[in-house]
Amino acid sequence: MKALVYHGPGKKAWEEKPKPVIKESTDAIIKILKTTICGTDLHIMKGDVPSVKDGRIIGHEGVGIIDEAGNAVTNFKKGDHVLISCITSCGKCEYCKKVMYSHCEKGGWILGNEIDGTQAEYVRIPFADNSLYHIPVDADEEALVMLSDILPTAFECGVLNGQVKPGDVIAIIGAGPIGLAVLITAQFYTPAEIIMIDIDDNRLQVAKTFGANQAINSSNENVLEKVMSFTNSKGVDVAIEAVGIPETFELCEKIIGAGGHIANVGVHGKSVNLYLETLWSKNITITTRLVDTATTSMLLKTVSSKKINPAKLITHHFALNDIINAYDTFQNAAKEKSLKVILTNN
Ligand SMILES: [Zn+2]
Ligand SMILES: [Zn+2]
Repeated sequence: MKALVYHGPGKKAWEEKPKPVIKESTDAIIKILKTTICGTDLHIMKGDVPSVKDGRIIGHEGVGIIDEAGNAVTNFKKGDHVLISCITSCGKCEYCKKVMYSHCEKGGWILGNEIDGTQAEYVRIPFADNSLYHIPVDADEEALVMLSDILPTAFECGVLNGQVKPGDVIAIIGAGPIGLAVLITAQFYTPAEIIMIDIDDNRLQVAKTFGANQAINSSNENVLEKVMSFTNSKGVDVAIEAVGIPETFELCEKIIGAGGHIANVGVHGKSVNLYLETLWSKNITITTRLVDTATTSMLLKTVSSKKINPAKLITHHFALNDIINAYDTFQNAAKEKSLKVILTNN
């Protein structure tokens, strides 16, 4: 089969690899139908994720068909259409019992990281019963690719951890795919105002069509002044960080109001300043977490019933074997006006 293989920082190739086989009776082999590229994959390509070794097939999102199921897999059979979770969970360890699948002792985020991933014609999924979801018959499978990672990540790390409530004023920093997925799922709770902050006017424009009430371009506007003018100088109830750099996290600390929640979603590579001298008395909560994909079933229902439409995050389509070009488009997001790309295995 063909797959996208990481060969050290800056090096990748679409090349021949052996088709995966069942190793444990709880495994399933999936023929990929559709997959996508994640911001995390770009981090991997830069060499930022040392657990990814030379020769690894990357990718942790996708939908497909069960090609073969191990003897111990009871919930899925050959031919079933499935959504692949970016988080693999054994369902039995201490963390899985606490619904912290991200910290599963035998799984967590291993796909396209410690084991071969989904940017391939076939992928082996361990603990298939706990790591796959049935796709409803007439579902939009492209839309469901957004449920492998970005929707549960945005919802769990941003909206749930941020405790978004009806009537809240919330700010989302970063209007990339994750920030926009926060914007979509925050509206389950009917916040009064959603302020979107980014440096790309195109993305801010998209955010407005997704339901943002205010858009601030932080490269040429004074964010603090604007947020304070929108909030009667009170600051926001919830600030959700969806970028992963010190400036954007520290911005959350500046715009948060008394009693507010700062929910971190971004992947950080550097330490940030904690302005405790101003925050100590403000009753604020700062949260961090990994996505557990514990809400995937719920999100599937909201997509099936068309309460939300994550397909609007998809801007580009490619054949799977054209993945190198897809990477270029995804990487040059501002120039290409790209959000999520869909790769189809024909
Ligand atoms: Zn991802
Ligand atoms: Zn586990």
